[in-house]
Amino acid sequence: MQDQKAIIIGSGIAGMACAIRLAIQGFNVDVYEANDYPGGKLSFFENDGYKFDAGPSLFTQPKNIEELFDLAEEHIDDYFKYKPVDIACNYFFENGKKINAYTNREKLIQEFKTQLNENTESITNYLNKAAILYKNVGTIFLNNSLHKKSTWFHKRIFKALTTVKYSYLFGSLHQHNKSSFQSEEAIQIFNRYATYNGSNPYKAPGMLSLIPHLEQNEGTFYPYGGMISITNALYQLALKKGVCFHFNHKVEKINHHNKKVTGIVTNSKVINATLVVSNGDVFYTYKNLLNDTTKTKKLLHLERSSSALIFYWGINTSFPQLDLHNILFTQDYKKEFEHLFERQTIYNDPTIYINITSKMESNQAPEGCENWFVMINAPANVGQDWNAIVRAIRESVIKKINRILNTDIEKYIVTETIMDPITIENKTGTFKGSLYGTSSNSKFAAFFRPANFTSKLKGLYFCGGTVHPGGGIPLCLKSASIASEIIKAEYGK
Ligand SMILES: Cc1cc2nc3c(=O)[nH]c(=O)nc-3n(C[C@H](O)[C@H](O)[C@H](O)COP(=O)(O)OP(=O)(O)OC[C@H]3O[C@@H](n4cnc5c(N)ncnc54)[C@H](O)[C@@H]3O)c2cc1C
Repeated sequence: MQDQKAIIIGSGIAGMACAIRLAIQGFNVDVYEANDYPGGKLSFFENDGYKFDAGPSLFTQPKNIEELFDLAEEHIDDYFKYKPVDIACNYFFENGKKINAYTNREKLIQEFKTQLNENTESITNYLNKAAILYKNVGTIFLNNSLHKKSTWFHKRIFKALTTVKYSYLFGSLHQHNKSSFQSEEAIQIFNRYATYNGSNPYKAPGMLSLIPHLEQNEGTFYPYGGMISITNALYQLALKKGVCFHFNHKVEKINHHNKKVTGIVTNSKVINATLVVSNGDVFYTYKNLLNDTTKTKKLLHLERSSSALIFYWGINTSFPQLDLHNILFTQDYKKEFEHLFERQTIYNDPTIYINITSKMESNQAPEGCENWFVMINAPANVGQDWNAIVRAIRESVIKKINRILNTDIEKYIVTETIMDPITIENKTGTFKGSLYGTSSNSKFAAFFRPANFTSKLKGLYFCGGTVHPGGGIPLCLKSASIASEIIKAEYGK
């Protein structure tokens, strides 16, 4: 297969994972990336000694990365090290309650009991059901294409479908949580998991209750050096496997002839290939690279996931009450999601996520200081006045932090960078700046998410957060596996 050339458009996490997998299969792999750095959303910058991961901050399911090193017969320790985190998240409520969501089951039960009066059974049942749902349904539907008959004739499919209760499909995540817990705080904590794929818990199906399985049952992890270590490790592994990267090469067109892909055009140059995998946003791939107006129109009907507004603050003091992951909850979660998905703006009492990697490694910030990644869920970009929104929300965020942490945060902010949905869209070629492709705000959203291949053009495949199985690091890595397995079946010996 050495003479078969595979081109990957984009060096996001899925693009690099797919490049590694195809190189291992024996393809000559070339990655064309518009930016001058790899990683897409998973990138990094530094301000006066404060280090910041620009995008993702929560790392779950390291096994998806381990699998790549195993396949490549390389020692992961030579490239990438990580450790488990004891507290998945610290939750702060305006009523003064504070919950440490321990990853240890016993400690979590105890915390929910003492702080929220939740009984042992409610939390145990919930997490056990999440594990069963993940094992029976998640492992089939997240690891295989939904658009191949072979998935539906899988011998485990019957068991998977019998696990899917009526309420998982036809009730919302919020309804599922309301029937599982008695305290408003526990319901809000478990509603928040809808945001892990940019969705609304009051609309998204109860099926999303399998998400906490990843965090609370399998655990959350911290990569030494921050999240950028994931990008660096995959980039180094790809180079080791002979993948060739071309930065500052925006792909302008995918060429095809007789319903078969022939290559790409980049920097006005034609490059031929046996097959092309697009890791770029699927909407822009069809619109700009294929000029396929019919498919583009269809994709426009799918609701996009939420985006984000992020303040990267260098803080010249430390806050012992905070940890790696912290949430300062809104008082009205329902209203917050109405603002995000219906009014397409940000509620003036937003839920605030604060990630501080200097809590794990002191060299992430100058001595005695902290690197705050302060993220607020934002709607996808539909032309809002972002300057006005950012000004107003910055003020609300500062007031809320001061109120809950009893501080005057503004006087400690010594560096500031801001990223809004427009910046995300421009930096990563993501339609409307959505973090996770299409939302899961309907019962069958998973089935409408674009496929990892197209039957219209032989030799064209897709991986990344905008196609099946969806956004977030674990799912993006799975999309690379699904696309490369389809390619193996079609081109392998
Ligand atoms: C602020 C933020 C916070 C997040 N938090 C988390 C989190 O905590 N945990 C988590 O798991 N996930 C999180 N996510 C989501 C996660 O980052 C993404 O799902 C994932 O990184 C997307 O990877 P991808 O492979 O789809 O590619 P992307 O990262 O979208 O990269 C695509 C790449 O393709 C390139 N490209 C596009 N078009 C072209 C073209 N025509 N020619 C050449 N190159 C092109 C782009 O330049 C880019 O480098 C977050 C995202 C953001 C932005």
